[in-house]
Amino acid sequence: MQFKDLHLNRHILKSIVEKNYDKPTLIQEETIPLILEKKDLIATAQTGTGKTAAFALPILQILFDKQDAPKKGKKIRALVVSPTRELAIQIDENFKTYGKYTNLRSTVVYGGVSIDPQKEILQKGVDILVATPGRLLDLSKQKIVNLANVEILVVDEADLMLEMGFIEDVLKIEKQCKQNKQTLLFSATMPFKVQQLANTILKTPLKVDVTTTNLVTEKVDQTLYYVPKPKKIELCLHLLRNTIKGSVIIFRRTKFGVDKLEKALIKNNYKVDSIHGDKSQNLRQEALKSFKKGNVDILIATDVASRGIDIKDVDAVINFDMSNIPETYVHRIGRTGRAGKRGSSYSFCSADEKSYVTNIEKLMHKNIFVVEDHPYPLDPKAKSEVHKKQGSKYKKGRKSEASKKKKKRWY
Ligand code: AMP
Repeated sequence: MQFKDLHLNRHILKSIVEKNYDKPTLIQEETIPLILEKKDLIATAQTGTGKTAAFALPILQILFDKQDAPKKGKKIRALVVSPTRELAIQIDENFKTYGKYTNLRSTVVYGGVSIDPQKEILQKGVDILVATPGRLLDLSKQKIVNLANVEILVVDEADLMLEMGFIEDVLKIEKQCKQNKQTLLFSATMPFKVQQLANTILKTPLKVDVTTTNLVTEKVDQTLYYVPKPKKIELCLHLLRNTIKGSVIIFRRTKFGVDKLEKALIKNNYKVDSIHGDKSQNLRQEALKSFKKGNVDILIATDVASRGIDIKDVDAVINFDMSNIPETYVHRIGRTGRAGKRGSSYSFCSADEKSYVTNIEKLMHKNIFVVEDHPYPLDPKAKSEVHKKQGSKYKKGRKSEASKKKKKRWY
């Protein structure tokens, strides 16, 4: 399928050509026609699948077809709520890029920065508003934002909304929009509470599922290092010196862990920046910018601060701490291997994290290749414990395969 088959107008197609998009991604192929038919939609898709364009392009088309006032007096007709500021900013950038040749206007509002410049832009009038829930409700309370004309509502990353405690806010926001609006809900995973939310705010929705667990894990060369916790920093330095080339994102579970690792890497003369929830919005944006520009090669991040952000051309991901949530592992490694390129991931597992690996392998239906030949192995007793406690189904595959071809990768 080609973009021209999706019945998008020439103004939108022109910006797609400029972006050098060859053809629609799977989620775009599936959702764009349904959104143009004004259906409510519940879509399971992760970032990296092209899901922003999957809703942004048809929204631009729908709004363009029924133009509003030229400038002042514009009413908010499409609203996208996003759980994180970084993601909200990115979505707005996408609307601006794809809508470049339409006269539709978009803006983004989020917390952690001064509200006044956001008020000013809103008072000039926009067609599309991208917002994080807290700041949006604040602006609505102050009567700066009126959602009564919102005819398309997008709830993005619904599972993360849930994790971050935003569901009540989303329900409040939904009530302020037009009653007969079109609602689109996107989520990387579909836990029961997200389904409940969908049942509350969507009308007989159609379902689209392009879960990319398989896709992501096919595109990434995954390796696993069993290593004692105190030796992780040394292993990290060893890999950065000898194995990993190019840009790297290193994931840590805690803000404290991020700061500690950042200090250690700086001490070893690496150009590093970091993002986590305790950093101001401006500092997080600056870190992201300098990483995207290539001013620093290494970005250290916690999961929440980095979820959904679109950083292209990341050569490798290091899971410095294993995630206890298997889906998070897939999200993390999905930062690399994007846009048709292969990527690499390096996961550090200490003795107390071994059960996380079992759950991750269960989710992926495949094992992660274990690198045994490295300078900081777990002592043999702890390692045999690890293998003993691995899920038997996956242990079998690992053992036979690994013993046959020790160095062959088979992820
Ligand atoms: P998203 O899932 O929205 O975060 O998009 C992930 C990346 O894919 C972004 O860098 C987009 O610019 C890019 N992208 C979106 N649609 C396409 C497409 N049809 N072809 C190539 N790249 C795309």
